[in-house]
Amino acid sequence: MSKLQTSVVTALLAFGAVSLVFAYTQTPIVSSSDSALQSAAQTVPLVVSSSAESAPVSNESPMAPQTSQAQPAQAYAQEASAAEAAPASVSRGLIYLDPGHQRKGNAQQEPVSPDSKETKAKVTGGTRGVATGKPEYVLNLEVSLLLKEALIARGFEVQMTREDHDVDISNAERAEMANAVNAQLAVRIHADGNDSPKAKGYSVLYPDAGVRATRSIQPASRMAAESILEALKAGTDAASRGMVARSDLSGFNWSKVPVVLIELGFMTNPAEDKQLSVPEYQQQLADAIADGIDTYMKNKEN
Ligand SMILES: [Zn+2]
Repeated sequence: MSKLQTSVVTALLAFGAVSLVFAYTQTPIVSSSDSALQSAAQTVPLVVSSSAESAPVSNESPMAPQTSQAQPAQAYAQEASAAEAAPASVSRGLIYLDPGHQRKGNAQQEPVSPDSKETKAKVTGGTRGVATGKPEYVLNLEVSLLLKEALIARGFEVQMTREDHDVDISNAERAEMANAVNAQLAVRIHADGNDSPKAKGYSVLYPDAGVRATRSIQPASRMAAESILEALKAGTDAASRGMVARSDLSGFNWSKVPVVLIELGFMTNPAEDKQLSVPEYQQQLADAIADGIDTYMKNKEN
């Protein structure tokens, strides 16, 4: 064979090997995510369209396989990021973000927990900035999108309940979305309101130990809340209001994966309301929360 023929054959062989690696590594990822969705679909009539995007495939830039078959997930992640495919499909773990509320609340009722007859509004309108006039649902999404990027930069996969204000997703449904893909952690982003304009500071909420429905996820949720609170203390100068156990939140009680809720600060405090919309401060909050999640995920593995 000529030199040219030889290199063409070599290239074809290399491409074939890479294709095999793709075929090998994709199969378990796609099928596990599909089956998780199917089982969820049996319990909730809910369309989780975003997860269909969890395995973007691009094999346009074949690379020599670098990783042994013992770590197919990592091999795929490396190739996916090298190809600059949209969100990494396999990563350090899947974090589900829920930017609280939406443009229009939904006052229809839903059970506050799977084993309760008590009901609450499906989703409320949230609070509003006294100085900025900004609705809470807008602030929640702004910070959530920064948090999404911060988590992706740390090697996590991120899915979100919404990236739009014009949705109608109840708090129970938001929990079920994270359940459906068996997220490692669900993180709900909210901002606080109070009758007193003096109330200020962030807090991290987690499921109360006395709630039967969330007993299995309570210790891990508490651990995540602790890590996030510590990271907020380290990463911001804002006042900490500490951790708060809650038994009354549908978004907690329907969750089957560890879940926390971060109250970023008080939109009813004029100074804090303005601060919460400063881009640098939003980035500080997002980075701190991402650090806290990072610490939690590391501790969980050990
Ligand atoms: Zn809220």
